[in-house]
Amino acid sequence: MKKLCLLTVVLIWTSFSAAQYTNETVSVDATDAPRNILHSTLNIQAVPGPMTLVYPKWIPGNHRPTGPIQNMVGLHIKAGGKELEWQRDLVDMYAFQITVPDGVNQVEVSFDTITWNGKSSASSSQVMDLNWNQVIMYPSTGSIGDVLITASVRLPEGWKFGTSLEPAQKSGNSVNFSQVAMMELVDSPLIAGSHYRQIQLSKPGDPLPNVLDMVAESEAALQISDKDLASYKKLVEEAVKLFGVRHYDKYHFLLTLSNETAHHGLEHHQSSDNGSAEELFSDPDWHNLDADLLPHEFVHSWNGKFKRPRDLITLDFQKPMKGDLLWVYEGLTDYLGDILSARTGLRSPEQWRENAAYTAAMLDHRAGRAWRPLQDTATSVQISFNASAQWGDWRRGADYYPEGFLIWLEIDTMVRQQTKGQKTLNDFCRAFFGGPGDTPPMIFPYNFDDVVKALNGVAPYDWAKMLRERLDAKAAHAPLGGLENGGWKLVYTDQENTTMSARRKTGETLDLTFSLGLHLAKDGSVIDVIHDSPAYKAGVGPGMKVIAVNGRKYSKDIIRTALRTGVTDKQPMALLVENAEYYTTYSVDYHGGEKFPHLVRVDGKPDLLGEIIKPLTQ
Ligand SMILES: [Zn+2]
Repeated sequence: MKKLCLLTVVLIWTSFSAAQYTNETVSVDATDAPRNILHSTLNIQAVPGPMTLVYPKWIPGNHRPTGPIQNMVGLHIKAGGKELEWQRDLVDMYAFQITVPDGVNQVEVSFDTITWNGKSSASSSQVMDLNWNQVIMYPSTGSIGDVLITASVRLPEGWKFGTSLEPAQKSGNSVNFSQVAMMELVDSPLIAGSHYRQIQLSKPGDPLPNVLDMVAESEAALQISDKDLASYKKLVEEAVKLFGVRHYDKYHFLLTLSNETAHHGLEHHQSSDNGSAEELFSDPDWHNLDADLLPHEFVHSWNGKFKRPRDLITLDFQKPMKGDLLWVYEGLTDYLGDILSARTGLRSPEQWRENAAYTAAMLDHRAGRAWRPLQDTATSVQISFNASAQWGDWRRGADYYPEGFLIWLEIDTMVRQQTKGQKTLNDFCRAFFGGPGDTPPMIFPYNFDDVVKALNGVAPYDWAKMLRERLDAKAAHAPLGGLENGGWKLVYTDQENTTMSARRKTGETLDLTFSLGLHLAKDGSVIDVIHDSPAYKAGVGPGMKVIAVNGRKYSKDIIRTALRTGVTDKQPMALLVENAEYYTTYSVDYHGGEKFPHLVRVDGKPDLLGEIIKPLTQ
């Protein structure tokens, strides 16, 4: 069973005999990308009779049914030059039934994709992020392992592009790519823009080259400092040292620098699709906040793409995925991406510790810990990932990312302690994600027991028990053992945390989570309230708006000053709050002043955190 399954998934990325292929072409006219419309035309091999065409629903890396079917419009299907009637399935909104007439062997499908959802967009007047799953359909057969597809794209005048796909022919603004398996096309996004720059990150002569492709809203945004460039080059060296081998033929870091398009990251075998601020390289706060973006997505080439939880591997884009092992897929990637941000110098050790302190403190203020174990945040990824920010501590959201950081930090420190520094989590990474040598892109499945076995291979211990305790507990507090084993402890002072300061300045929000229990927008709107916090006990809730503090019009400075003076004058803070059409004054009885998390050294304990973030390469 295991062997058969493994063979099947590995074959997705390799080849079939010619007779088994189903052929398809997709031409994308992206000249309307600046107004967020992509025009697709597909030719799909067909046989006469009933046929079901589907639009990709479950998107790898999203782990959820996020295919934007609601944004697919203007559908027409033709065969032999004649328009065919189509009928959407009454239950599956992603499936369309047609009848292919006699005498034809292909259908032509055309539709538009709207790439703006009202909150974020995939394009602006200067840049575009093309994800092929949004512009294709395919025959519903239960597997796309035999579908080969030839893609082409027409870009806006003067735009240049980056992708791991191999261009076969370029003509003016049009590019034809070499034929690939459909799984590979969807795994190979393309970015394009009027301001473009490509930088080689690998050492000259590296047979598996790493490239940074950037598009931006301005030419100035592409100006990367020598120090940052050295850090990104070091990222490649550090990751190769960490995992020992590589599972790609080449790797493209695709980076879009824009405040008009989504800030996000999505992993692929041979590329990653990264979106950050236009000021990433010029604003120290953006630089700090997104220092782990490229490292995180790069780690996924090993953890997530090469090695993947068995139940996240599917043979097409219509079958549901199961997210119960995302605390490895995303949690360990969060940990490794984060330590790589320090090992490469993208973050200073101090910035790294401040970020760790913020993560630990945030997870230690989660009322939802009482009802929802960490395991459930991964299991319920389909609903938890995009849950709104309101009552975030009660929902817990996608805690398998940040709490995965804490758990894998704890494991790393335990391995170091138990083996007296002879072994580390780096050894686990080499054993679990490496292998005897470099390989082209492949997928290997694993389950919970495989993770435990690999950990035992590094340091014998009852890892299954430890992990199940961390995953299934309804503990009031976050697992902070890794910090403590590492020679540091979490404390709160009135000095602002560096990560929180960066978030305040870039997001224009004010996070008073650890004092009043309030998270406020620039205009005083209450983004969130922490359970059992002073603000919660006073009656404040998300969706309300703070109008005045102690009788004076709200501003960030006014409420921060009131927090400080409340320490000595012992007067409750009066918050005048708007709730729909009514105004209420809430009395918040809190006198602890401003509180922000930090890590401080524990005397006499070795600094394992310092060891962990030391580079592996010179
Ligand atoms: Zn990730």
